Amino acid sequence: MMKTGRLFVLSGPSGVGKGTLREHALKNAPSLTYSISCTTRKPRDGETDGVEYRFISREKFQEDISRGLFLEYAHVHEDYYGTLKQDVVNELEAGHDVLLEIDVQGALQVREKMPDAVLVFVAPPSVEELERRLEGRGTEGKESLNVRLANAVKELALKDEYDYVIVNDDLENACEELKKIIL
Ligand code: ADP
Ligand code: 5GP
Repeated sequence: MMKTGRLFVLSGPSGVGKGTLREHALKNAPSLTYSISCTTRKPRDGETDGVEYRFISREKFQEDISRGLFLEYAHVHEDYYGTLKQDVVNELEAGHDVLLEIDVQGALQVREKMPDAVLVFVAPPSVEELERRLEGRGTEGKESLNVRLANAVKELALKDEYDYVIVNDDLENACEELKKIIL
């Protein structure tokens, strides 16, 4: 029988560098696939449906919840985000490792349903530096930025639930740490 893949979950506050680390990991690990989440939030400039996310309506999201299609889902910031179960199961059964980039509530749901999942938390060197990165990215308005910072403090309180914590201070070191976990 073919070996099933491993499931990795990457979480951490908005702006900490998860997306950046994920891109590096996907380049370095050929058998790793990324599971594209569904969300009810609006696409940002430069985002394409089916690439960063599947952008769906609240009605469709509710329908998919009631059909039991999500491995996990959560209300994050001001929208819904979720991972489709079938996508993940198909990849794992094909022997591919799968990476999810999801919030803390979702990560803990995955741990309940798939106890073998490896949970990795990305922490900022400080909350001040997190604020600088979020501002520097230039994707959020003032209100959205404040919502993300308030949530960051709540998320940081749950980092001890994870198997690994990577402090994303020096990017190269952080990439190396993630690579060691995944490879
Ligand atoms: P997330 O996906 O967690 O929201 P991003 O990957 O979009 O975060 O990173 C947020 C911003 O911080 C981006 O502008 C990114 O280039 C920058 N960044 C990521 N890692 C580092 C790092 N180690 N040092 C400085 N800036 C970083
Ligand atoms: P953003 O809107 O900045 O792309 O993402 C906001 C937050 O939603 C991030 O913390 C991200 O990890 C989380 N997120 C993205 N996709 C999912 C998902 O499928 N499930 C859950 N629970 N959270 C997600």
